[in-house]
This record gives sequence, structure tokens and C-alpha cells, in this order.
Amino acid sequence: MKAAMNTIEIHGLAVHAAGAQLVPYKYEPGELKTNEVEVSISHCGVCHSDIHLIDNDWGFSKYPFIPGHEIVGTVTAIGSEVKDRKVGDRVGIGWQADSCGICEWCRQGDEHLCAQAQPTCVGRNGGYADAIRVNSRFAIPVPEILKSENVAPLLCAGITVYSPLRNHGVRPSSRVGIVGIGGLGHLGLQFAKAFGAEVTALSTSKDKEAEALEMGADHFVNTRDMGALKKIAGSFDFLLSTVSADQDWQALVNSLRPKGTMCVVGVPPSPISIQAFPLIGGQRAISGSPTGSPRDLHEMLDVAARHGVKAITERFPMAKANEAIAKVKKSKVRYRAVLTN
Ligand code: NAP
Ligand code: ZN
Repeated sequence: MKAAMNTIEIHGLAVHAAGAQLVPYKYEPGELKTNEVEVSISHCGVCHSDIHLIDNDWGFSKYPFIPGHEIVGTVTAIGSEVKDRKVGDRVGIGWQADSCGICEWCRQGDEHLCAQAQPTCVGRNGGYADAIRVNSRFAIPVPEILKSENVAPLLCAGITVYSPLRNHGVRPSSRVGIVGIGGLGHLGLQFAKAFGAEVTALSTSKDKEAEALEMGADHFVNTRDMGALKKIAGSFDFLLSTVSADQDWQALVNSLRPKGTMCVVGVPPSPISIQAFPLIGGQRAISGSPTGSPRDLHEMLDVAARHGVKAITERFPMAKANEAIAKVKKSKVRYRAVLTN
């Protein structure tokens, strides 16, 4: 970050075409808005959504752009109307950078549902950079006990699994399945345990079994084994799918108990096709969930601090972001790549 006469230059890594490598890129963010904070970035996680955006899997990527939305850093400047943050605060920034602040959803604390919600790295430049500016409400103070490297992935992966567990009322009597033990899933195991549930890890990777049990799973199911999938029919009150690939959705719905819900947070490429009768007969439901509101982010970080939830990370210098992305694409990272400045 270079400062010159009230304006700054932000230096980052941008992608210029679908699927391209990241290359050095700089931009001038202009005047600091009255409600914004400027944050010097120390850490940024590599979420699979960054990869979907880089590859234009969702059809709305605009190039060039700097990815990154699992950010931790220090506030270096505040706009004239900012009262809730001060220079020197350590903060975390997730998927969302701004919202309208006045609609029905913003008024009731569900800013993530605002129609004007602005994602941190869609139509804006994100966290694979030395600095960023966001509305101060979306820069969440990080509890002192949490290390920046372990907390950065909580800002997207963590909240994306925390919110549905909370909003679906998971409790000690709940039987919970977490499908896909990657960046989201390994935090899902830890949070589901913190909610007191009996937890099952469902994974295509047999070699993750021992670590999944250490992270809080009571059981491990190898989803490549059709026999094992059949055996768990009627097992779960709540199933959270974090997988970015197509799956045997019918087998997953069949693994729900009556009144159970399957919540989808991973983004598979094809539509989800399932039979109606298992939903009707067992009064089962399918739902989706985005990241979460600033209120839920505050709560999630507090829960993480008090229950020892932390991302297991592999660290890469920011300049080696392309290496980190290649490793995520091969599903070789255990369990979240974090870029450091
Ligand atoms: P990740 O770290 O790459 O983990 C995905 C996991 O899915 C893998 O570790 C793997 O776990 C499992 N998997 C099973 N089959 C797979 C296959 N064919 N290819 C790749 N993975 C496979 O990704 P992530 O960062 O956790 O993100 C997961 C998904 O959630 C992405 O689609 C992402 O865009 C989405 N997401 C959604 C939200 C939201 O707001 N709803 C927020 C963040 C991310 P096993 O080895 O255990 O099978
Ligand atoms: Zn994300």
C-alpha cells in the first residue's frame, strides 16, 4: 500500500480472464467514504468460491478483479462518520463488504439478505492484496485469543457452516452429518460439536478419517462406498452439504430421519434432482444458506474463541497465491490455504 497526497494505491493479485493465473495489479480506491474503514491485510484465506469466481463458474465474474474474502488485518484509517472501529483494531472481513442499511432485512439485522448487498470481491477488489476498504459494519473485531492465521477462514467458511447449524436449531439431541471435509466441512465438524450434536463426517477421502474424529466427528462415512451410504439411511436430523461437486442427492436425502433437513451450502455445477416421495413421506426438507450477517459473525467469532474452534491451515506467502489455488483445485490442502503478507 503506497500513500501519496491523501490517496492510496492498493497492490494485489488479479485475474484478467476466466481461469487465468493471478498477476500483480494495482488500483486507486479514491477518497475514503465516510462510513468506510481502510484495513492493512495480514492474512487472507483461499475459499473455493474464489476459485469458482476466477473460473467464472457462476457466469457473473468481471475481469480484472482481485479475489479474496476471508480477510484479517488492522484498521489504518476510518471515515469521518465511523464510530464503531478505530485505527489499530484487528478486524476480520468476510463475503460481504456493504449493504443498503435501510431495507427491511438490514433493519432486522439480516444484512446478508439485502438486495443491495455488496460482496467483497464481486464488482469490487478483494483480499489477495495489501489493503482493502469496506463499510465499517462489515469489519468485525477479532477476539484477542484467536490467531489471525486460524481465524481468517472463519470469516467465510466458518460463518457459512455456523449460521445454518444455529438457524436450524442444532442441539445436543441432534444427529448431524457434515458432507465434504474441506475448508467449510472441517469447521462444520468443530461447530456442530460445539452445539453439542452427535456428528458424522461424510467424505470421499478415507485418509481424512483420523483427523475428522479429532476435529469432533463421532463417526466417519466413506461416501465412495455405496454400501456405507445405504447403511446410514434414516440417520440424520440435519445434514450440511459443503461439496462443490455433484453428488448422489437421493442417497443423502434418504439419510435424513423424519422431519430432517438437508441444507446445501456448497455449489455443485448441476441442478439438484431428487424424488418427491421421500420428502413428502418423511416430512423432510431441503434448504440453502448463504454466509451470515454481521450480528452472526460477531457471535460466531465469540463462540470460536470460547469453544476453541479454529481453522487448520496451510500457509502461503501472498506472492505464491497461484500455487495455493492449484493445490486447492487438486483437493490437496488440509484444510484451508491462507495467504500471508
Ligand atoms: P474445499 O475446501 O475445496 O472443500 C470441498 C470438499 O468437498 C473437498 O475437500 C472434498 O471433501 C469434497 N468433495 C467431494 N467430492 C469432490 C469433488 N469431486 N471435487 C471437489 N471436492 C469434492 O471447498 P470449500 O472452500 O469448503 O467450499 C465448498 C463449496 O462451498 C464451494 O462450492 C464454495 O463455493 C461453497 N461456498 C458456499 C458459501 C455459501 O455462502 N453458501 C460460502 C463459502 C463457500 P472430502 O475429501 O471430504 O470428500
Ligand atoms: Zn467463501
